[in-house]
Amino acid sequence: MNQPVMGGVASVNAPSYVKQQQLINWVAEVASLTKPARIVWCDGSQEEYDRLCAEMVASGMMIKLNQDKRPNSYLACSDPTDVARVEDRTFICSATEAEAGPTNNWTAPDAMRAKLNGLFDGAMQGRTMYVVPFSMGPLGSPIAHIGVELSDSPYVAVNMRVMTRMGKAIFDVLGTDGEFVPCVHTVGAPLATGEQSARWPCNPTKYIVHYPETREIWSFGSGYGGNALLGKKCLALRIASSMGRAKGWLAEHMLILGVESPAGKKHYVAAAFPSACGKTNFAMLIPPAGFEGWKVTTIGDDIAWIKPGADGRLYAINPEAGYFGVAPGTNQKTNFNCMASLASDTIFTNVALTDDGDVWWEGLTKEAPAHLIDWQGKDWTPASAQESGRKAAHPNARFTVAATQNPVIDTAWDDPAGVPISAFIFGGRRSTTIPLVTEARNWVEGVYMAATMGSETTAAAAGQTGVVRRDPFAMLPFIGYNMSDYFQHWLDMGEKLAATGATLPKIYCVNWFRTGDDGKFVWPGFGDNMRVLKWMLDRIDHNAAGIENIFGTTPSYADLSWDGIDFTSEQFKQITSIDHAAWQEELKLHTELFDKLHHHLPQELVAIKDQLEKRLSN
Ligand code: GDP
Ligand code: PGA
Ligand code: MN
Ligand code: MN
Repeated sequence: MNQPVMGGVASVNAPSYVKQQQLINWVAEVASLTKPARIVWCDGSQEEYDRLCAEMVASGMMIKLNQDKRPNSYLACSDPTDVARVEDRTFICSATEAEAGPTNNWTAPDAMRAKLNGLFDGAMQGRTMYVVPFSMGPLGSPIAHIGVELSDSPYVAVNMRVMTRMGKAIFDVLGTDGEFVPCVHTVGAPLATGEQSARWPCNPTKYIVHYPETREIWSFGSGYGGNALLGKKCLALRIASSMGRAKGWLAEHMLILGVESPAGKKHYVAAAFPSACGKTNFAMLIPPAGFEGWKVTTIGDDIAWIKPGADGRLYAINPEAGYFGVAPGTNQKTNFNCMASLASDTIFTNVALTDDGDVWWEGLTKEAPAHLIDWQGKDWTPASAQESGRKAAHPNARFTVAATQNPVIDTAWDDPAGVPISAFIFGGRRSTTIPLVTEARNWVEGVYMAATMGSETTAAAAGQTGVVRRDPFAMLPFIGYNMSDYFQHWLDMGEKLAATGATLPKIYCVNWFRTGDDGKFVWPGFGDNMRVLKWMLDRIDHNAAGIENIFGTTPSYADLSWDGIDFTSEQFKQITSIDHAAWQEELKLHTELFDKLHHHLPQELVAIKDQLEKRLSN
């Protein structure tokens, strides 16, 4: 369907099934600005996916993996400067700076538009502009939202097909006047006539821009992950959080899982952990020895849209259709279900290539293969790695795979009605201070726990790793409006639900990452997180004890089930102890956060902090 160039600007030539003139006009407008050589309307078919992948193999952007070892799978390796989300280049351009709030980068919309017009002018020259129609949420469902991404990256087009419901059926739903979120993306690397593209084109200048008022997304200069697959963080979190605030629902950085007891009682829980802190793993958890008959099933692994139902409960859907997961650390033991999902039809990004045409990453096997081509295309051996410290796979290396390949996908995973949530879990990566698990005494205390959460930074975002920063609700990089207003929105939701007489979900705070004197994680984590999950469910069903603490309610050693594991009460103490001095320091950081967010900061949260300070000094 490649269209010929007409007078320097590609002709739009929309397929006859596209009925919306406004959409066609917008595509023409963006094309006349960005000046692509041709326009391809994606239909979402397997044939199209295979063709785009074959084209990328031919251009050197992707490698096809060994068909016998990893059928229909590919490896793409990015430019070393384009490996993660760029939070310092991400902007929320609301009408006023106060609406974006102190945690977002802000530029006045007019100034940003002027800036971007310059950057996007001719940015797609020599490249193909793909028109990628997609739905976040089940097609045609009243809770779904449609987006159309115009991108000059074929890698984006194929990843969007895996991550969203993408294809020509979207145009039927849109009809002549349906609403969609316009998303424009360019790698920002125009080609002169006859110039060869870089293997992974990108631009040192990057802008990831959101206009919440007009619900538009413009992304320049990066081809990686959340910077470029605009349905994910940009639409389903930043724009959707702003929609949700206006309409009384929540867009959250949460996995959703189902957990069924041997007696057949099923609960759904949603959990927010910052990027690369365990969502995908928790969503696919396999109960450990001693938990025979328990079943965990996945609804989603990264994003939840949550709305109140007629019964006063909160119902959650996963707006995505695939997983863009962290590869390093994933193996048969830590995440068997994930490994099974990756057996075929997977796009890998920035992992290493084995000599027999398969993939490898740190943590996949105990021993590394004798020789690899690393993610930067260089020879790699265990000996050379020891010398240089160079990793074979980038720490933020990813896989892209369809949710339907997950062997434990929940039967309700694409039910437009969503699943009722019994508990919210918030967790960060903290080597000290924060205990294994704490239950909030009430909704407001739970909102406080989530609001003040800290986590050590990871490779999922560009910048230094391992530094503790406040990451409220694991949403610091993803809230499309003022953080204090977001806290208020959570409090308002709780109040509204409570007024219906419904039981609110319980709120928990967890930390899988406390370390011992040797610097190693004390808690085995992964499948064993089931022990913590079970305690939560028992609490919800009024079947478990806990101790009131300065900070919520915590289990004692005897309150958790230790069947099938040798984990001593001494070890338990190591990961649950409350160090008063450390908590004094922690509270200073809460104060610092609240000072920063003083504009519109809900006073209920300040009151909780006062109580916490009092308990701590007693
Ligand atoms: P996500 O980005 O939030 O989805 O996080 P992932 O589930 O992909 O995990 C990110 C990294 O943390 C991977 O290297 C995992 O192996 C590791 N991880 C996940 N869960 C646990 C856990 O319970 N304990 C420990 N120690 N590591 C974990
Ligand atoms: P993650 O998603 O939360 O699975 O890491 C990608 C991201 O947040 O960058
Ligand atoms: Mn994420
Ligand atoms: Mn994940």
